[in-house]
Amino acid sequence: MKKTRQTRQKEIIVASLSQFSTFFTAEELTSRVQLKSPKIGIATVYRFLKESATQGTLHAFGCGKKTVYSRNLKNHSHFICEKCGSIEHINVEKIDFLKERNLGEICHVQINVTGVCKKCSHP
Ligand SMILES: [Zn+2]
Ligand SMILES: [Zn+2]
Ligand SMILES: [Zn+2]
Repeated sequence: MKKTRQTRQKEIIVASLSQFSTFFTAEELTSRVQLKSPKIGIATVYRFLKESATQGTLHAFGCGKKTVYSRNLKNHSHFICEKCGSIEHINVEKIDFLKERNLGEICHVQINVTGVCKKCSHP
């Protein structure tokens, strides 16, 4: 079977994103993709990311004003300071309290905790 242009583009995007072991943005992925194929634009990458997130093959998280994506990491959580606006990434290892709620099948978790950071609470 002859590969369509779309299939080829998708293969390049998949190969490029497999180089990321942690979270990445659409912009970061696009620059990797363009090393291989400069003609693939960010709109194509966005479309791919959206599709993959819907299918559950990628996980999307809000990170400040950006959206970050991951292949395997299913938790992206923050501690956000209300005073200075700093964002600290936190690792939430146990989500038993969510599983107990019997919400359905959990795909990925994002918890944004708001408070006052150490710097602001001890100036
Ligand atoms: Zn997910
Ligand atoms: Zn983040
Ligand atoms: Zn602060």
